[in-house]
Amino acid sequence: MADDDFFKSQRERMVRVQIASRGIKDPRVLEAMRRVPRHLFVPKVHRHLAYADGPLPIGAEQTISQPYIVALMTELLNLQGGERVLEIGTGSGYQAAVLAYLAGQVHTVERFADLAKQAEQTLKALNIQNVQVHVGDGTLGLPEFAPYMGILVSAAAPSAPEVLLEQLAEGGILVIPVGQRSNQVLERWQRTGDQFQSKPILSVAFVPLIGQAGWQE
Ligand code: SAH
Repeated sequence: MADDDFFKSQRERMVRVQIASRGIKDPRVLEAMRRVPRHLFVPKVHRHLAYADGPLPIGAEQTISQPYIVALMTELLNLQGGERVLEIGTGSGYQAAVLAYLAGQVHTVERFADLAKQAEQTLKALNIQNVQVHVGDGTLGLPEFAPYMGILVSAAAPSAPEVLLEQLAEGGILVIPVGQRSNQVLERWQRTGDQFQSKPILSVAFVPLIGQAGWQE
């Protein structure tokens, strides 16, 4: 079996066994998870584990999230297509690639220039054109392109930064892990006018969001 077919069948299995079976229903999200070649976003030495049910190291002490968590956070944004969305914590670029299938334009911010560059190259090699990678402190969001219908934070904060909530469009949704440095609760926030409603979703463990409205180095 050719490599491509092998990885494709692993992806099908990943979606069936890890994602659909745990309650992810949005057909567009399931399709995006079937399409994005996760193995191209992980370092070569871990490629054989790309479709396993867990996070993986991507360098700079960072990790690419477990596939189920990527799918869950994506589904929580409730994207219909065409929206402008923001991701904080580009890492490998995998989550951004999944969002690229479901939204109109994706802006993603990474604090490590090396990771940002690598992610940019991977996205370019896949001909994904609606993702813009930015280097900087994402705890401040990206006011230039605000407001966003969705903001997805891929690292854990002590609390949901107000500057991010303020960059949500009317009806927009923020998904963010909030809590201690080592374990958190995934929260979904939605904006209605000047009101923000939050809902706890699931216990999770993310790497820390480091920056002005996050944790100290
Ligand atoms: N979404 C990524 C995984 C991200 S891991 C993927 O799909 O691979 C979390 C990332 O957040 C790390 O790369 C880390 O460097 C980054 N990060 C931490 N604090 C940040 C900040 N303030 N601004 C931008 N990126 C940050």
